[in-house]
Amino acid sequence: MRSARGTVTRVAACRLLVLVVCPCAFADTLVSADPPVTADRAGDEAGDEAGEWSAGVSVAAITPQQPMMLEGFGSRTRPAEGEATEWYAKALALRDARGTRLVIVTSDLIGIPRPLRERVEARIGKRLGLPPESLLLNASHTHCGPELKMTSTALEELSTQRQRRTIEYCKWLEDTLVKLIEKALAGFAPAQLSYSHARAGFAMNRRLKNPDPRRGEPYLNHLNPKRPVDHDVPVLQVSWKNQARRAVLFGYACHNTTLFVNE
Ligand SMILES: [Zn+2]
Repeated sequence: MRSARGTVTRVAACRLLVLVVCPCAFADTLVSADPPVTADRAGDEAGDEAGEWSAGVSVAAITPQQPMMLEGFGSRTRPAEGEATEWYAKALALRDARGTRLVIVTSDLIGIPRPLRERVEARIGKRLGLPPESLLLNASHTHCGPELKMTSTALEELSTQRQRRTIEYCKWLEDTLVKLIEKALAGFAPAQLSYSHARAGFAMNRRLKNPDPRRGEPYLNHLNPKRPVDHDVPVLQVSWKNQARRAVLFGYACHNTTLFVNE
């Protein structure tokens, strides 16, 4: 996303997004292996002043209330055995000087199933007039999140109990996301935006050319330090006038499969 003269101009949706909402300073929440390489404060560049932008945020816990199978590793045979941490969905709603709205939702999920996206989009569009292009639903792609099955093809492979639990959870998740977005849109207040870049060096290319393409796929899912990688961390900070709270949205391109825990 880029801020220019108080208008929404572009949204990059192809990477992991994390929204941090905190009551004070945010510097400690951003993992950065190297110091920032560029700094381009939108406010300085475009002459933004508090009042041209409005923003609202909301947070909702989305931790399942009963043990569910976790997504991400097909070799799991048992439901979650505990709760290492709470899972969250967070929404940041922005409104520019022309009244154009944008809502970005981040979530601790493996992904956003198409039916979930369509249902949330339809409900928010009908109730609040938000067009589809103004809603971005993003998942952190955690491999320790709940199983999300919403199509008949995906459900038919599951036991009766697994079907019931994922159907119930997906319905509850849909309702929770709708309330989350409504709350963010209802909380608009004059805000100041700033945009900068940081750098984090832990991501690595995982596309290795198969030395023997006659066997298997032409490319293997294997570490390849010689190939390109994107270490850029775009950061959007939102602050509100006369308020101590801050919201920080940052993105990073990586496949976070490092945790193989069942909780
Ligand atoms: Zn994955």
